[in-house]
Amino acid sequence: MGIRDTTSLVERLRAMNARKIMLMLPDGLKRSSYDLFNELSRKFAVILASDAFYGACDIGNPDIYRDVDVIVQFGHSVIPNINYPRPVIFEEYRTEFTYDLPDQVYDPIVGKGYRTVGLLASIQYLDTINDVKDHLERLGLAAKIGRQDSRMGYPGQVLGCNFSAAHSISADVDCFLVISTGRFHAIGAQLSGSKESFILDLNERKVSSMKDETEKFLRKRYAKISQSLKANRFCVIVDTKVGQYRKKLADLICTQLKELGKDYIMMYSNEFNSNDIVNSGSDAVIFTGCPRVPIDDYDRFPFPILTPVEFQTLFGFKKSDRYVLDEIVEVDRLN
Ligand code: SF4
Repeated sequence: MGIRDTTSLVERLRAMNARKIMLMLPDGLKRSSYDLFNELSRKFAVILASDAFYGACDIGNPDIYRDVDVIVQFGHSVIPNINYPRPVIFEEYRTEFTYDLPDQVYDPIVGKGYRTVGLLASIQYLDTINDVKDHLERLGLAAKIGRQDSRMGYPGQVLGCNFSAAHSISADVDCFLVISTGRFHAIGAQLSGSKESFILDLNERKVSSMKDETEKFLRKRYAKISQSLKANRFCVIVDTKVGQYRKKLADLICTQLKELGKDYIMMYSNEFNSNDIVNSGSDAVIFTGCPRVPIDDYDRFPFPILTPVEFQTLFGFKKSDRYVLDEIVEVDRLN
């Protein structure tokens, strides 16, 4: 991942009358900091954001971006239904891949007798989705690309917090194939509709079933969730990142905790800190920010941390005969 031509970026910034801009670079692009800074500083006043950021749901610290004209975030695609408090340009990163996969790559799917495949991809690999579709069709399979909801920019696109493109075709496909290196996207696809999910890793040029990994994920998750059954004091966290802010949901969870006769507090946070929870004497956390945090980071915390929907199914506020993944459709306005 390296620096690209900045001509069109400069044109867009000029069209927006930008003078002062803030650049947000993911770790993989940080090596381009000097080149980008020097190049763009000839035309604009440039600052670089140093804080880690997690996706298009996060435009960093308001104290830093408050007085810039435009934020430029590299590597992610816009989340269309977020009301960003400053203008943001998203410079997407798409992996360049010359499609030349042999037929045998798809043997794991063909061998299972599946006839219709639902195709999904994370943003970096979205340019390959039509090549994969054509290839599957040449092999005699049908391939479908699902419609996204208003949180997503493209058909077939998945984020760790949104599988709407999978839901839209789940009833019509036999399995999913997810083009991604992030295994969670493929686990999420399987959980979204109980259809077997496969991952196509373009680096390894390999298709693998996610069935066993999804079952392992579920075993771990149920073990973790059940630890909160005995909890009495719950901390409900509201994340103040612009694309993770779900205050209304947090209010609902507090009402439900009250109904259960549980003690609870609501805590606002931009960078979730384990010590705050331990020091507050909480037994468990219900996290309304990024759905990936309770799932990816649970072993960082010495207490159970649940997604809102895990809490609601565990305590009977939602009925479901299968595990339900927390997904974000839209967030509340921050101000
Ligand atoms: S909420 Fe989480 S999964 Fe969704 S875009 Fe943000 S960091 Fe990614």
